[in-house]
Amino acid sequence: MPDAVSKLPECFCSPHFHPKPIEIETGEIKPIKSLGQVFLVHDKTAEQLVKALDVTDNDTVIEIGPGRGIVTSKLINVAKEVIGIEIDKRLIDYLARKFSPNNNLKLVECNFLMFDMTNYRGLKIIGNLPYYISSAILWKLLEDCWYWKVSVITVQREFAQRVLASPGSPDYGPISVVAQYLCECRRLFNIPRSYFKPTPDVVSTAVILKRRELRFSLPDFKKFIAIVNAGFSPQPRKLLVNNLALSLKISRTELVRILEQIGLPYNIRANSLSPDDFFKLASALTSISH
Ligand code: SAH
Repeated sequence: MPDAVSKLPECFCSPHFHPKPIEIETGEIKPIKSLGQVFLVHDKTAEQLVKALDVTDNDTVIEIGPGRGIVTSKLINVAKEVIGIEIDKRLIDYLARKFSPNNNLKLVECNFLMFDMTNYRGLKIIGNLPYYISSAILWKLLEDCWYWKVSVITVQREFAQRVLASPGSPDYGPISVVAQYLCECRRLFNIPRSYFKPTPDVVSTAVILKRRELRFSLPDFKKFIAIVNAGFSPQPRKLLVNNLALSLKISRTELVRILEQIGLPYNIRANSLSPDDFFKLASALTSISH
């Protein structure tokens, strides 16, 4: 949806916002659990996250879910422009008041999953992702990988393990393949539960994704994602040819021939293919080429 942003109520920080009391400090703005609202309260960690993103005064940074703005407050000192995408209007109003003298912060009240990045290039992205949609947000980031070059995301530790998993690991799945094919992915550090308020049930892990050079067109990229997903479903542990035959409606004989052609055994499972193997497979199955 190319026009998503312009249709959204945007609020630029300005002195025009009503000076209301800062409800969140007095507890009047109650964290909404279903929106994954656990706020980082450890200043040093916020600094480390921003440092990892390596922001310069040429950079436009998108912050996913700025919340109470602990990370935002560091970003606005170093970035050319910061765009905070926050779904909760109460927090948008709060942030607008908190940062009202800053003119390099733009706040957008919207669901990040609907945010249109197509007009941007070379973005840097940061966010302590709301846990309930971390996976959907990372898939969106990967599908929109044309528009950004580096992301620092904080996610539940177990989810980070899935993103970073190597072939053969039980955690290895479609998101590991696609994330690692597109980006150099690295674990930065764990963040203890006590560094957030309210205290979450899970430990968090900060991960950095540095986009590699993109080697295909957007339609080919979509085919690649579809083939990776087809390889793992309906049953990740089944033979790759069986999964692909079912999802892609290609005969097993043809699939075995293609696997042979790219040097993979007929009885391989999706879990054993490296991200590069998946790319070779997708190239052999479709017209994708480098
Ligand atoms: N970055 C802040 C807040 C993290 S909590 C900090 O580190 O303290 C997650 C934040 O994401 C909350 O502010 C929540 O309101 C926001 N959020 C939840 N779902 C969202 C969505 N779909 N789009 C944008 N923001 C969302």
